[in-house]
Formats: sequence, C-alpha cells, structure tokens
Amino acid sequence: MCKTIVFSLTFDNILLFMKQTDVLIIGSGIAGLSYALKLAEHSDKTDVPIKITLLTKKELKVSNTSYAQGGIASVTNRIDNFEKHIEDTLNAGAYLNNRSVVEMVVKQAPERIKDLLHWGTRFDKKNPKEFDLAKEGGHSEARILHYKDLTGAEIERALTEQVKAHPNIEILEYHFALDLITEHHFGKKITRETPDKHCYGIYALNTQNGEIITIASKITLLATGGIGQVYETTTNPEIATGDGIAMAYRAKAIIKDMEFVQFHPTAFYSPKKENPAFLVSEAVRGFGGILRNHSGEDFMFRYDKRGSLAPRDIVARAIDNEMKKSGKKHVWLDVTHTNLEKFKAHFPTIYEKCIENGIDIGKDNIPVRPAAHYLCGGISVDKNGETTIKHLLASGETACTGLHGANRLASNSLLEALVFSHQAYLKSVTELPKISLRNDLPHWNVEGTKDAEENVLIEETKNEIQSIMSNYVGIVRTNERLNRAANRLKLIYEESEALYKRSKISQSLIELRNMRSVAYLIIKQAQQRKENIGLHYNKDLENQ
Ligand SMILES: Cc1cc2nc3c(=O)[nH]c(=O)nc-3n(C[C@H](O)[C@H](O)[C@H](O)COP(=O)(O)OP(=O)(O)OC[C@H]3O[C@@H](n4cnc5c(N)ncnc54)[C@H](O)[C@@H]3O)c2cc1C
Repeated sequence: MCKTIVFSLTFDNILLFMKQTDVLIIGSGIAGLSYALKLAEHSDKTDVPIKITLLTKKELKVSNTSYAQGGIASVTNRIDNFEKHIEDTLNAGAYLNNRSVVEMVVKQAPERIKDLLHWGTRFDKKNPKEFDLAKEGGHSEARILHYKDLTGAEIERALTEQVKAHPNIEILEYHFALDLITEHHFGKKITRETPDKHCYGIYALNTQNGEIITIASKITLLATGGIGQVYETTTNPEIATGDGIAMAYRAKAIIKDMEFVQFHPTAFYSPKKENPAFLVSEAVRGFGGILRNHSGEDFMFRYDKRGSLAPRDIVARAIDNEMKKSGKKHVWLDVTHTNLEKFKAHFPTIYEKCIENGIDIGKDNIPVRPAAHYLCGGISVDKNGETTIKHLLASGETACTGLHGANRLASNSLLEALVFSHQAYLKSVTELPKISLRNDLPHWNVEGTKDAEENVLIEETKNEIQSIMSNYVGIVRTNERLNRAANRLKLIYEESEALYKRSKISQSLIELRNMRSVAYLIIKQAQQRKENIGLHYNKDLENQ
C-alpha cells in the first residue's frame, strides 16, 4: 500500500528506483519500531492515513536491542522515587547531563513501560501485582524491569510482531541506507552552520538485488543504533557500524560527545575471538557477583567504595589496570557463593554460555574483560528528537540527547530510545501536515564506478580501523596515542576514498566509510576534551 514506485531506469546495469513515503524510518531496534507503532496507531485514528516505511539492513530482529540482557530502568514502586533515579543518572553522567532531559526521561518512564506492556512485552514478576526488579551498578534502588536475561530479545519480539501485523507500515528488510538527501544534492553548498538545511529523503541499496532506490520522505527518523564495531572487541552485533552518525555527519548535522564510548566491564573472555563478545550482564554483579584478580583479591574496593557495583567507567578502568598489571587477558567474576538455582532462573543464557565453555559456576569463576559496548554521544538532538537538519529526527543509540552526560547509567538506554521515539512521534504528527514531498530528487550518481574487485581490501581496512581504535583510543588514552590514531586514520581516509571512487557501491564499502568517519569523530572529540570526566580518561590530563 505504501509502495509508490514512481519510475525506474537502468544505468550501467544498476537499477535505479524511486519511491515516496510520508515517514521514513531507518532501523528496526527499539527506537525505530516503537516510533513506527506510535505513528501507525495515530494514523489509524485519523482521516488522512500516514504512509510509513521502515527499512533495515538485515532482518528486522537484527539489532543491538535484541542483545540487551539486563533490562529497562523505571520507577515502579513506592520505595523508589523519581528524584533517586534522576540523581543516579546525573551522578553516573558526572553531571555533564542535561538535567531537564534527565527529568523528562525519568518522569516519562512509567508511561513508556505501559506502552511496552500494551504491545505485548513480558517482564518477570515476583507476584501478580509486583515486578521482579533487579539492581544494577550505579542505581541506588532495585528498579530494572527485565525478562530473564533476555529483555532486549523479548522487547524486539513483541515490537516486531506488532509492526509486522500493522498494514500501514511497509517493511523493507535487507535495505541499506546509503546517504541522506539534502540541498547539497541540488548543487547548493551547505555547512554545519547553515541554518535552513533540510532532509528530503535518502538513497538506499537493496542488498539482495543491487537496486539503488531514491526514497522521498517528508520526515526521516534515524534509528540506526551504535558503533561498537569500530573496536576489535565489542558486545555489539555486526550491524553496529555507526551508519546513521556517519550519514548525518556527511549531511552536515552536528555530532557531539563522541569521546564518551562506554566499555562494558564484563564481556565473557574467550581465547577464540568472538564477534560480538558475549555479555555477562551487570545484573550478575547486582545479584552478588564479585570481581577478582588473578590473586583472588576482591580488588574493586581499592578503586571505589561501592566495590563491584561501582559505575561502569570506574569498573572498566579498574579491570583495565588489573589486566595491565598482571599481563593477563581477563579478570574473574565470582558467583560461586550465590544461589545456583536462582542464578539459573535469572540468567539462563549466561549459565548456558558458561556450561558451553566448560565453566561450572558453582565452583569456577567466569573469565571477563571489558568490551566496547555503548556510545553516549551521537547526532545532536533536542527534546523532540530533532537534529540540526530540518525534517531529520534521530532516536536511540545513534542520538545524543543529553540524558547520559559523560557516562550512561545501566539500563537507561532502552528507556531513552522509547522516550525520544515518543517525543519524535508527537513532533512528527504536528509537523507532517506542514511538509510537502519533493518529487524532483536526483538519482544516485553511479557514473565512473566499476565492479567491486576489492572485497578483501575492504575487510582488511575495517580490521585496521578496529585495531587502531582498540590500541590507541580505548579505555585509557594519552595524547600520543590519540595523535597516532589520527595519523594512521588519515592514510586510511585517502586509501578508502580512492577505493570508494573506483568501486561499485556495496554495503561493506559504505560501512567502511562510515566506520572511518565514526573513528575520526571519536578521536577528534577525544583530543578536544581537556578534562578527565566520565568515560573519557586521558593519562596526560591526570594532574590538571
Ligand atoms: C549486549 C548488549 C546488552 C545491552 N543491555 C542493555 C540493557 O540491559 N539495558 C539497556 O537499556 N540497554 C542495553 N544495551 C544497549 C541497548 O540495547 C541499545 O542502546 C539499544 O537497544 C539501541 O536501540 P536502537 O533502536 O537505537 O538501535 P538498535 O537496536 O541497534 O537498532 C539499529 C537498527 O538500525 C539498523 N541499521 C543500522 N544502520 C543501517 C543502515 N545503514 N541502513 C538500514 N538499517 C540500518 C540495524 O540493522 C538495526 O535494525 C545493551 C547493548 C548490548 C549490545
């Protein structure tokens, strides 16, 4: 129904299509799916239906959201209150957060949880009236709603079922967004400072048949998730290449706080490199798990009075330090003293992972190490999810909303995505009637490109970026390391641009360009940050 193919033409054996939609959503994690459902439900109640198109680069369920284990934070009982959740969020973020955003998100949380329940999401309960709430690092109360250790997969299941059942949402799986269309494509010079720039739609690649589609949209929502794949070890799946951030950057949107990359302290360590690295949820430490070094010491109390339950940045740096001191590739997480039956019930996936690796958690410790996990920064948005480009919104991990400040409090990100998608939906329904579709968008320019002969080169260059970022732009940075990373990346920039110009477009090639842009932004913004705060730690700033 939404599919409006205006015309197609062939150029050098590449099929070029055009289509139109009212709202275009890029990404099928919690941010994209919840925004789609809100709009579709609104559309059902109005006389003029809204055409909604959701595209995603793999299958719907492939997203960071599907991997979330711990849960989603919300005040849901009388022991807890909004002030405590607000204070915990600000404290974790080193007070670099935008207080009014924090207040908005925390106070909206119970309503957004109701949305999830309305869409059929299940959460574990203690009894028919009370949720079984978990406590995680940095939280002063137990306030994490969860479904076993599979919360994200459960949310993704419920939301994808709803989206698939909604006739008003057109789903395009295996469609890879290439670039945003702005005034630039009409020959007008725009900069980051240009005040009146607009997004008119996107170019996308159908990765199953090679077609390039020009999609005209009144409003576009970027819900493209995180960037973990720019690092060697990450908990993020392979889709997390920062595409939305790179596209928005190329289109001259403002991108900020990129230096605040959160490393999860406890990814499962396996001698065979796993991509993504399996996460041992923070909730395991909330359940009583204790971090130990290779001498068996409960070392965290040397770094923070909260011990193993200190916020992630402190725990990740402490583990990094212990690993450097011992020369070992991991530390241990000890749950041997906890109730085994309860552990199995709460963390069935983690339990299974241990069994698969020959670890009996009743007797053995779990080997863990930090891994790139979450990006606090991203595309700068206001409280309605509006970017600095008109008609372009962003929500979820790709956006920088001001909620997290210098460090994200555990389980606040699923919540942030829900709240900002709700805000973006409210904004969209008031703006849509005022926006006209452009029907004069230029086709993607395929001139001068040949077949992709250089797949190996693309993969090797991606590996190089990951290695540069892990070696020089990890948990503990120095000026020299950042400079080295910047210099190495310059060369990669030149080589990959040359490759881009002479190759036929492919998902892998564009992901490489996107990862390069994301790496550049992290390095540059890390160099600009002149204080150690939250997730940014530069040894050369220690005594300043
Ligand atoms: C292992 C793990 C555990 C976590 N645990 C928790 C937790 O317990 N609580 C919590 O709050 N947060 C947790 N997080 C973080 C949280 O899951 C994410 O921040 C959140 O799910 C992001 O949602 P999103 O919708 O913004 O992005 P995602 O869920 O990552 O979705 C992004 C979507 O965009 C698509 N996409 C990307 N680029 C393109 C493109 N170029 N073209 C088309 N489609 C594209 C992807 O295919 C994907 O569908 C965890 C993350 C991980 C990795």
